[in-house]
Amino acid sequence: MAGGWTKDGAVHNQIDAHIDEALHDARRGRGKGPGRTHCEICGQPIPEARRKAVPGVRTCVACQEKAEGGR
Ligand SMILES: [Zn+2]
Repeated sequence: MAGGWTKDGAVHNQIDAHIDEALHDARRGRGKGPGRTHCEICGQPIPEARRKAVPGVRTCVACQEKAEGGR
């Protein structure tokens, strides 16, 4: 159907894309830009050793393991 713009579907896809992107970053244990001092997912502090070992890291070990273990 020409011009069949479904707003609800578009928003849903946008949210899915955002989650996918966040999970993708979490699986890699890093994201764009500088690393974070606190986990992006649970808010726990990320140890300095981990931040040094994984430049740009954004999640703690526990959350990264969860992300790597699947959804
Ligand atoms: Zn965490």
